[in-house]
Amino acid sequence: MPLPQCDKIWFNGELVDWEDANIHVLSHVVHYGSSVFEGIRCYKTQKGSAVFRLDEHVNRLFDSAKIYRMDIPYTRQEICEAILETIRVNKLEACYIRPIVFRGYETLGVDPMGCPVEVVIAVWEWGEYLGDAALKNGVSVCTSSWNRMAPNTLPFLAKAGGNYLNSQLVRIEANANGYDEGIVLGTDGLVSEGSGENIFVIKNGSIYTPASNYAILPGITRHTAITLIRDLEMRVEQRGIPREFLYVADEVFFTGTAAEITPVRAIDQIEIGSGQRGPITEQIQGAFFDVIRAEVEDRHGWLTAV
Ligand code: PMP
Repeated sequence: MPLPQCDKIWFNGELVDWEDANIHVLSHVVHYGSSVFEGIRCYKTQKGSAVFRLDEHVNRLFDSAKIYRMDIPYTRQEICEAILETIRVNKLEACYIRPIVFRGYETLGVDPMGCPVEVVIAVWEWGEYLGDAALKNGVSVCTSSWNRMAPNTLPFLAKAGGNYLNSQLVRIEANANGYDEGIVLGTDGLVSEGSGENIFVIKNGSIYTPASNYAILPGITRHTAITLIRDLEMRVEQRGIPREFLYVADEVFFTGTAAEITPVRAIDQIEIGSGQRGPITEQIQGAFFDVIRAEVEDRHGWLTAV
């Protein structure tokens, strides 16, 4: 599906026309993947448009940049403001937001330090990532033949462009074999995450998710789900999860800004639980949708009005 265009893109502090937001083909990022980015959602709520967990996303962007020694030439506050401004000028009620920080055009050695750090914020209309039906009926996924990055190779705590070469291999392979998504194991053989989602597993009423040392991106929806689960007076254990534990689980779901909370109905063609969305997943999903639609009080301060 082609990207739905909007009017303006925020490009190094200026709002430029969509078709003028271009970079040179010899920019460092094109050759070496030197970018860090975010994926954020703006929802249409009962009380107007609101960005979900804006501060947390901007903080993660700055953390990712710090790991790669990229000095973002704006403050966190300025980036938050720029995001809200970009939504407003494009007159979008609900959208996906993509801030990206990258090494631009100057020299083309591997050492990026001579290249300028550029910042772009784009927004576009976007529905559910894995589809409407997926939110209700769940997705069918495989265990990938690819592993996640080993510790101290590519830092997985950074949301960096280059990491998505790994995600691409996982997603391409999964789709080529007829699955909606792939689950990746770490080099230790334990469950890490989906190509673009964190994973939760439920067995005998207990909820588990891989801890942050299991090659996961520290997802903001993951954090949201953990908080909502605690609000529902249930517990989540963060620990190592063996692959076969997925097969015998009662329920499995993905979390992510794009995927929101998506049930997994089968893994490697093994039906999970009853092969449809389970009751605990449905409860957590319900709590999540209540928050993003502002149907309940925003008790954690997760929504920023546009
Ligand atoms: N893991 C990976 C590899 C991802 O790309 C994403 C999407 N950003 C996630 C997990 C989920 O993170 P979040 O909930 O912050 O979108």
